[in-house]
Amino acid sequence: MTQKRFLEAIIVGSGFGGAVMCCRLATRWPGKVLLLERGKRYPKGSFARSPHDFANNLWADAEPGQSRKLNGLFDIRNYHRMDAVVSAGLGGGSLIYANVFMPAPAWVFGERWPAQINLSTLAPYYRIAQGVLGARPVPPAEGDARRTIQRTGLYADFAQADGGTSRAADICVFFGKGYANRQSGPLPIGEQERNRFGAVQTSCTYCGECDVGCNVHAKNTLDLNYLYAAEKQHGALVETGSEVTCITPLNEAGDTDSTADGRHGYRVDYRDDAGTARHALARRVVVSAGTLGTNELLLRCRDALGTLPRLSQRLGQGFSGNGDFLSFVTGGERDADPNYGPVITQYIDYGLQQPQPGQPAFMLEDAAYPAFAAWYVEGLRPAASPGYVFSRIARTIKIFKQRWVDQLFSGKWSGSVVAYANAVLQGDVSYRSSVLLFMGQDAADGTLSLKRGRLALDWPQTTSRPLYDAMVACGERFKQFTRATSYIPQPTWAWPVRNNITVHPLGGCALAEKPAQGVVSSLPGVRGQAFGYHGLYVADGSILPTGVGANPSATITALAEWIAEDITGLAPDDTLGVPHA
Ligand SMILES: Cc1cc2nc3c(=O)[nH]c(=O)nc-3n(C[C@H](O)[C@H](O)[C@H](O)COP(=O)(O)OP(=O)(O)OC[C@H]3O[C@@H](n4cnc5c(N)ncnc54)[C@H](O)[C@@H]3O)c2cc1C
Ligand code: SF4
Repeated sequence: MTQKRFLEAIIVGSGFGGAVMCCRLATRWPGKVLLLERGKRYPKGSFARSPHDFANNLWADAEPGQSRKLNGLFDIRNYHRMDAVVSAGLGGGSLIYANVFMPAPAWVFGERWPAQINLSTLAPYYRIAQGVLGARPVPPAEGDARRTIQRTGLYADFAQADGGTSRAADICVFFGKGYANRQSGPLPIGEQERNRFGAVQTSCTYCGECDVGCNVHAKNTLDLNYLYAAEKQHGALVETGSEVTCITPLNEAGDTDSTADGRHGYRVDYRDDAGTARHALARRVVVSAGTLGTNELLLRCRDALGTLPRLSQRLGQGFSGNGDFLSFVTGGERDADPNYGPVITQYIDYGLQQPQPGQPAFMLEDAAYPAFAAWYVEGLRPAASPGYVFSRIARTIKIFKQRWVDQLFSGKWSGSVVAYANAVLQGDVSYRSSVLLFMGQDAADGTLSLKRGRLALDWPQTTSRPLYDAMVACGERFKQFTRATSYIPQPTWAWPVRNNITVHPLGGCALAEKPAQGVVSSLPGVRGQAFGYHGLYVADGSILPTGVGANPSATITALAEWIAEDITGLAPDDTLGVPHA
């Protein structure tokens, strides 16, 4: 056995959990922490935009013994009654998320969460996470038309009409270092400067492309804060294109031994994009491969490879889609302009922050999508609506006749191209359509398991139906408010398909006081450590015992800080150990 890579820690995955663990453990053990991430790095300007590049921007599992065909950003999974979208790349979900930072409401910690964790115990870690991630609301427009986001106002008006309140969401977007530190107003749109950790960022250009990767690095993605400091300041070793396939404990002699309990360390096997097998050894392993990746890896190690047989029988139980429900309202009478500004700017609370007994608890957030997608939607309209084609032809003929008359009598054609373009493009469906993002407290009763060597999910959707029905009713009210032509609950929701989609998969490795209740410990001294093992930790969305209703990355980050502090014995702060940060 080679001893050349006996490290202090190996981190699997670089999302919110993995980035925190990498940075904090590398601070404790500089140069002796290795992070393995299956996806690629995404430097400024590298996110796909053309149809050609998007075709390759997907993740597909490699067949055993073969090299990977697709190693792009979007990992889209289809499961029983619930599909999921997650990310592959250095920075994990932060690369494609909508930037919202929202602590969980206090009552969420009441049921199924261990006694050690509640909003008060997590509050200091939320504060640190918020400081590192630079979460603040979009700056006020203050007379600058470029900072006015129409849809924010539309949602505020709807909230008022619906008896609620629209509140500005804290978002992890760069509007200048001074704005992030609350020391000055925003940096002018499009200007660049170094953030507090030294990475160059651009003040947000309001392009609405946050969910397909920010090409100007205005999103405060993890590669620009936690991971940046980990690599540049604390000497973390980072290998991308490295997918972990197996974790095996070592015995006293240093050999792999599936009967061992981890006190002598672990061997981590992984493969690169070409399919080449590699391995590394470490005293500790932190699994932060995201809810789907972590459950899949641990289930495989326990049930298929037999290398981690002591893992709790609760592994895979308690999956939550965080109550996600996507909807569309099209053809409203109010301008919505969903192609402008950071993807989410506000939220309307329906009993999530202030629960009503017996009522489903959820919230409604606005959403932007890239302008290039709006062109695509316009291109689809003729196929979807023959009446639309006729109306456009009629309008074009009218303009043409008018121009022809102009030409006859004045000999002028000037401006006709402008008039044609205006006639064809005006009244586009996207400008008056809205994307409604609902999320709330679902039943968190899904089960993840291995079927034919791959992760499978069983989602008993009926137990969460009252929540989804309340969301659909809210969507209908939004339609009436905007006098829209149609409300479309998510495209796969129509009977008999009734399939849901989540971008917030959670659970399966729940924090608990005992292995009969969960998979990793919530007790001091062993926070986040898998029951049955020493030095094997889980830190990502999979450790949440329930959904949180709110966007979960803040809670995942805070929990990872809470676990890292327990492992390292170092009190965290939001400077990440970077001088003058
Ligand atoms: C479109 C979209 C919008 C979202 N918007 C928001 C939002 O506004 N606010 C919010 O709070 N949340 C949002 N989310 C959810 C958020 O991104 C996730 O909750 C969060 O990223 C989960 O963090 P994590 O640490 O659990 O794992 P992830 O961020 O998913 O990271 C896991 C990492 O592990 C890697 N990995 C997986 N398997 C392996 C393996 N075997 N070997 C090596 N590496 C591996 C993956 O490539 C990935 O990089 C959004 C998600 C999506 C898709
Ligand atoms: S709106 Fe555009 S520039 Fe601003 S964070 Fe999102 S993708 Fe980046």
